[in-house]
Amino acid sequence: MPACTRGVVPRVRSTATIYVRGRAGPVQVKIDCVTDCLFCGIAAGQIPAIRVLESPRTIAFHDINPQAPVHVLVIPREHHPDLASLAQAGAGLLDEIAAQAALVASQSGVAETGYRIVFNTGQHAGQTVQHAHAHVLGGRSLNWPPG
Ligand code: AMP
Ligand code: ZN
Repeated sequence: MPACTRGVVPRVRSTATIYVRGRAGPVQVKIDCVTDCLFCGIAAGQIPAIRVLESPRTIAFHDINPQAPVHVLVIPREHHPDLASLAQAGAGLLDEIAAQAALVASQSGVAETGYRIVFNTGQHAGQTVQHAHAHVLGGRSLNWPPG
């Protein structure tokens, strides 16, 4: 099982704003190719993250800039730029992400009170990392509609 499919790169942005543990505030970095994908780096263990759950094809870890008491990201180990690409991958990969997100919610104690799964996709949705990821948000009342 490859930690992350590197090489042929789908569409990626030339810059991204990331948060690095130990650094105050966001850091602007240039992305040349998927080798520089932040979440590929986390999947490969090259960039630290607080992992809470893993499965053969997915990793769940704490969001570094949490927007709720529970804020965990679930990513595929292989690179897909967004939800559409993830869905097209087939072979149950999106199902596995959804199942892991539900498990994270359960293990975090928010399954009973409720939680939200979010795939920000594209500029208007505020997607900042071009490696598909599900946000698992819970532990407080979440506004609807979102901002
Ligand atoms: P999005 O804006 O939907 O693309 O979500 C990207 C998420 O990645 C944001 O919620 C960031 O706080 C989070 N993030 C950025 N850098 C890191 C990092 N090094 N470790 C964990 N989460 C991060
Ligand atoms: Zn990636």
